[in-house]
Amino acid sequence: VTAVELADAFLERIDSIDSKLHAYITKTADTAMKAAKKADKKIAAEGKIPFLTGIPGAVKDNICTLGIRTTCASKMLDNFVPPYDAAVMDKIQKENAVILGKTNMDEFAMGGSTENSAFFPTHNPHNAEYVPGGSSGGSAAAVAGGLAAWALGSDTGGSIRQPASFCGIVGLKPTYGRVSRYGLVAYASSLDQIGPLTKDVTDCANILNVITGYDEKDSTSVKASSPDYTKSLVQDVKGLRIGIPAEYFVDGMDKEVAESIHMAINDFKAMGAEIIDISLPHTKYAVAAYYLLAPAEATTNLSRYDGVSYGERVNGDDIVSMMTNTRTEKFGSEVKRRIMMGNYALSAGYYDAYYLKALKIRTLVKEDYDKAFEKVDVILTPTAPTTAFKIGSMINDPLQMYLQDACTVPLNLAGLPGISLPCGVSSSGLPIGMQIIGKPLDEEGIIKAAYTYE
Ligand code: GLN
Repeated sequence: VTAVELADAFLERIDSIDSKLHAYITKTADTAMKAAKKADKKIAAEGKIPFLTGIPGAVKDNICTLGIRTTCASKMLDNFVPPYDAAVMDKIQKENAVILGKTNMDEFAMGGSTENSAFFPTHNPHNAEYVPGGSSGGSAAAVAGGLAAWALGSDTGGSIRQPASFCGIVGLKPTYGRVSRYGLVAYASSLDQIGPLTKDVTDCANILNVITGYDEKDSTSVKASSPDYTKSLVQDVKGLRIGIPAEYFVDGMDKEVAESIHMAINDFKAMGAEIIDISLPHTKYAVAAYYLLAPAEATTNLSRYDGVSYGERVNGDDIVSMMTNTRTEKFGSEVKRRIMMGNYALSAGYYDAYYLKALKIRTLVKEDYDKAFEKVDVILTPTAPTTAFKIGSMINDPLQMYLQDACTVPLNLAGLPGISLPCGVSSSGLPIGMQIIGKPLDEEGIIKAAYTYE
């Protein structure tokens, strides 16, 4: 097939299905067709073409796209059209990929269900009554529903891996610093990473090849050479030491989720891996630490939406009331909750008790992993304690929603890479995901393990 035929097929499918799934906030059919034509010319002119040439994908709406509206699913950025491309977009455009549109998400990436979008919730392609997970729920639903061949998401505390798990696809959060954050609208800068959501591990490795690499425009970018991740697409786990941390089988975990993970552990054993019980004792504090640190950073990052420099403005009698009106009207309730939590944690009287303590826990969580990785090569856990939940069932219980992140946030605190891949289906027909955690910069190790299992 030609790139134009391929783009046509995806656009037609989006036309017929996205009114039900609501995976996209903005569809870019015209630019997609132009890009497809350009890709076809390139394919005709050159024999050997880059992997992504002419392959249609979708991009989470917090990644800046030159000339294409980028909303972060917030009314605050309803009409924001970036004057530049994020670093990852530059890399993707160089390959002549075809961008079908920008995907729905929890507002400013705060949430785990995509219900916090200011526009509409996204539905899970496996069952429309259920959430796709979040915050990259639009990207996950687009790939799982066949509305994009690949997608980019961002992961601050699980937002790539948890929706991948809920939608039965593959999602990878790279090591902090592996992928440039330049042009990713910041949520919590010390935790955010961009990564791929794909149908399988092979596509994941290929997308990773495109987006990784040092970038001088991101001060936390890691100066490490990017390996060719497709070289890790080999089936070999003989002698691989896989750590199983008891702490990740948390209270309230679905029985079926735990069972699926244990079956996967047995499969790895049968393939020659060595299974080793490990302990990551500070895991139980990770969610609490995350929900102090991430909102604290978010508070700072979101202070720029003041009605002056970026985004929308709601007028008032003077400058203070203009700012107050703007932020009151244009931020959703979860964003406001986080701003309040963050300001509280950072305020003079509470800084030592909360923010500083959370930073210390962050170090302890990291040290737990360091110790474990002296004995094991990778760590295998559930991605989330449950399968997808029903739309509306948890949205009024933020604490319950935060506990969903128990297995994913510790990695972000430690900066480690993690991949989520399907490992079963629940009795109600919903996908179950497992997570494989790697040493810093060892995306190759987790890709290899995931590929072997898949
Ligand atoms: N669910 C987490 C939160 O609400 C993670 C979000 C993310 O990774 N962007 O903060």
